[in-house]
Amino acid sequence: MKYSELADVYEKLEKTQSKLEKADILAELFSKAGSDDLPKLVFLASGRVFPSYSEEVIGIADQLMTKSIARATGFSAGEVEEKFKETGDLGLSASHFVEKRKQRTLLSKELTLEKVFENIRELSTIEGTRSQKKKMDLIAELFASAEPKEAVYITRTVLEELRIGVARGIIRDAIVKAFLKPEDMEEKKKLTEVTENAFNITSDFSKVAKIAKEKGVKGLEKVEVKLGQPMHVMLGEKVDSIKEIIDKFGKVAVEYKYDGLRAEIMKKGDKIWVFTRRLENVSHQFPDLVEFCKKALKPDECVVDGEILAIDPKTGYPQPFQNLSQRIHRKYNIEEMTKKIPIQVNIFDIMYLNGEMLFDKPFNERRKILEKSVKTIPKKFQLAKQIVTDDLEKAEFFYKQALDAGQEGVFLKVLDSKYVFGRHVDGWYKIKPIMETLDLVIVAATWGEGKRTKWLSSYVLACRDQDTGSFLPCGMMGTGLTEEMFQVVTDTLKPLITEEKGKEVKIKPRVVVEVAYQEIQKSPTYEAGYALRFPRMLRVREADRSPDECDTLERLKKLYKSQGREG
Ligand code: AMP
Repeated sequence: MKYSELADVYEKLEKTQSKLEKADILAELFSKAGSDDLPKLVFLASGRVFPSYSEEVIGIADQLMTKSIARATGFSAGEVEEKFKETGDLGLSASHFVEKRKQRTLLSKELTLEKVFENIRELSTIEGTRSQKKKMDLIAELFASAEPKEAVYITRTVLEELRIGVARGIIRDAIVKAFLKPEDMEEKKKLTEVTENAFNITSDFSKVAKIAKEKGVKGLEKVEVKLGQPMHVMLGEKVDSIKEIIDKFGKVAVEYKYDGLRAEIMKKGDKIWVFTRRLENVSHQFPDLVEFCKKALKPDECVVDGEILAIDPKTGYPQPFQNLSQRIHRKYNIEEMTKKIPIQVNIFDIMYLNGEMLFDKPFNERRKILEKSVKTIPKKFQLAKQIVTDDLEKAEFFYKQALDAGQEGVFLKVLDSKYVFGRHVDGWYKIKPIMETLDLVIVAATWGEGKRTKWLSSYVLACRDQDTGSFLPCGMMGTGLTEEMFQVVTDTLKPLITEEKGKEVKIKPRVVVEVAYQEIQKSPTYEAGYALRFPRMLRVREADRSPDECDTLERLKKLYKSQGREG
């Protein structure tokens, strides 16, 4: 297929806002493509050359693109930069210079879709010495044959900013229309579901399109889990009360809702993959988890679903998510981090076992299979805490236990529900306390240690006694701040210090901060009589709130009661 055909379609897509029209335009193009071109076309139509879960990156920044345009067209990088400043869009700049180009190579020939796709893909494989030059050559080679319109979209695709408003639903609908040709609305709905499901399993529309073209709906229905290729996951609907779910379904499974990172774990013999909910491969970041899996997962092949928690290396107690987040994108010192921030994994589902997909089995049956498949490593790799009950009191008690254990809440899972991707009724329901944020005043602080000596790094928060106007401490906050925030807060507090004793300082109550927290507890240690659990700073309320407008003890009491743990 000629790349110009795609460029024409991009242009049409840019001109319409209508999703229906966009899907129609794409369907027409998809149905024209041959089997070899189709996967490439589907990728390019979504502005990419790799599936979203792939670790490959094109990795070309504006600067290198500017140089490539210059090299291909015979203008200087300075001239291209000027144009970029003027248009704000490198794609348009590329098109301008391609139109005016000073040299047209003899080799120039009509661009094919394949050529564009392959050259862009190749960019991700180039490393080492002279890699910049090699990358420029690949891009310049495309520009050498490109028409101005094509140059716009080549540039944007390489920079990974196509911006033609083609979301995943549009690609899916275009595939349905092009290859499955539904005859009425009902059929369209069913075929759309099958296509969506195939995408959820493969996470790759280029594959889905090829199967739809070659094997139709029957092929899509037979799409299989491939170990190493992440699938989408099931999520929960939010509900306000446990009662409404027990009233509707009777006996349900009540599980801890752990406050950590979703892990989709795939095992094939010795090989273990760990993917996040956004399908990022984090196996490399969690070598400890990989080791647990090798010992704890009994089947030769399986896919299980769970939640990774950070734990305190001394106490073994779960830590807030922020601690774990330091491990997620880490590239270096990974071994060291496994010691500094050890983890615990709680597994709650199994979707695949030795060649068999378990999506259609009821939840309680999957749980039984899971129990047989996991050899628990206590406190490290275990099954999610669960009770099965229709007794509201028991369920609520369990919910409180989950909160006491520092977790977010509970999931209520319908016993005969299938594993369905995304959020669905009659599946999983989640309950967590809806904590409104509080505006509190900083009344004292402590100078930090080590790397933090230059900052005031933990803050005593206070609410206002509505009767006397005095400020009553109700918690201490030291986490949740970035380095910049520490600096800003320190700069703001320093002039307000009234007393200094060792590392501790008292602060004039002037600075109001908005704070999120896990819950409010009764506390004899704080003057307010209440303490915030895991307070996290959201922002300093600089201009919009004065200390006498901050939240009162009365409000704290009310929020405490609303958690339903009075007594
Ligand atoms: P939310 O992010 O609030 O929509 O909640 C969904 C997330 O809760 C999932 O993606 C999981 O990471 C997490 N989670 C924690 N515990 C469980 C559990 N027992 N079952 C299912 N998901 C859980």
